[in-house]
Amino acid sequence: MSALRYLSTRGRAPAVTLSEAIAAGLAPDGGLYVPERLPSIDLAAFDPDGDLAATATTLLTPFFAGDPLADALPAICAEAFTFNAPLRPLARPDASLLELFHGPTAAFKDFGARFLAACLRRLRDPDAPPLTILVATSGDTGAAVGAAFHQRSDLERSGVRVAILYPDGRVSPRQAHQLGSFGDNVHALRVAGSFDDCQRLVKAALNDAGLQREVPLSSANSISLGRLLPQMSYYAHAALRWWRAHGRPLDFIIPTGNLGNAMACVWTRGMGLPVGDIRLACNANGTLPDFFAGAGYRPRDAIATLANAMDVGAPSNFERLRWTFGGDDDAVRHALRAASIDDATIRATLLRHARDHDEVVCPHTATALAVLDREPRGDARHWAVVATAHPAKFDAVLEPLLGHALTVPPALAAMLERPAVAAPMGVDEQALGQWLRKLA
Ligand SMILES: *Cc1c(COP(=O)(O)O)cnc(C)c1O
Repeated sequence: MSALRYLSTRGRAPAVTLSEAIAAGLAPDGGLYVPERLPSIDLAAFDPDGDLAATATTLLTPFFAGDPLADALPAICAEAFTFNAPLRPLARPDASLLELFHGPTAAFKDFGARFLAACLRRLRDPDAPPLTILVATSGDTGAAVGAAFHQRSDLERSGVRVAILYPDGRVSPRQAHQLGSFGDNVHALRVAGSFDDCQRLVKAALNDAGLQREVPLSSANSISLGRLLPQMSYYAHAALRWWRAHGRPLDFIIPTGNLGNAMACVWTRGMGLPVGDIRLACNANGTLPDFFAGAGYRPRDAIATLANAMDVGAPSNFERLRWTFGGDDDAVRHALRAASIDDATIRATLLRHARDHDEVVCPHTATALAVLDREPRGDARHWAVVATAHPAKFDAVLEPLLGHALTVPPALAAMLERPAVAAPMGVDEQALGQWLRKLA
């Protein structure tokens, strides 16, 4: 297999290897790295008895072919995928729940964050200057990246730090606690703004050559290929199992904000895996639903909703989605559909599924259940409703609604017992630059 090269969606950056793309995060022209072409894969290559790590290794091999990390790919997958993504039946016989919340921070972000950390650990020259990894989070990414980089002695010794930027007051209380609970090489900044503001601050810092000379920076947002590629694994694994058992593709409904999780599903289908229809379930932030309804792509300010990790008005992976369909917006609209679910519907859906079927999900997953509720029954499709976080992370929304306490998974409980600290930060590039220089 010849090595794939990686290009920027904006087309004004040199082609790089996958390792270089993973180490850089964002391309130097401000675009997102994409493979020069999406590889296709023969389904016979997958071991029918393989676990998630084995599926991931087979799936990602063509992306890593010829790369310095190629030989380490099985070990990277084994290190990252230490928990499962089970597909559980729902009350509706034509639907199942794909549970992506069995990792250490109880959200799907653990898959990508752990894989990225496993790659960077191997790419890092121990004598290189300290590296600060910036991550903007709408709630769950920051904790997953923090957990993946915290107390890894080899990373800490070689000077890898993490700075998490989150929108103050716009994440759940338990998410905020998790974000500030790490200490050591993981720092939390509570930003007086929205998630989009956090994302803009990170992009501005990464593009600031002067700052980068003094404080070398990298990113761990879903713009990083090191997070996007591993997220394809659970779609491939679930779809392959379904296809072997039923001889049909599996259809997905995906809670969507920044479009990282759904992008991975689109690429999985593009490689030839048995993925059928894909629906994006968005909250009241209508940038994507409006685009899919035929309007132009118009990013806007985010508004706060019950599904806070999806409060995104400018989904940064949209550039990748467009690239995937050759820049043809109509082709994008044919390939997927999107719906907007408002807070009243999120509440009603949470309540109805809990009361009638004992199906307790997080508010993000509820947007996908609401989309499922609108789908006709009785056709050949089977929907995998993607459960992006454990409901116990959102007790402040769910417990008053449901009238009972939720059981907290042990890893989350341990994080909540630690003290938490976060430094205040304005939406101010200069102030962030100063803070980073002081850290260095
Ligand atoms: C991040 C997140 C989402 C949105 O995922 P994107 O990749 O940003 O589209 C949905 N639900 C939860 C719980 C999340 O943490």
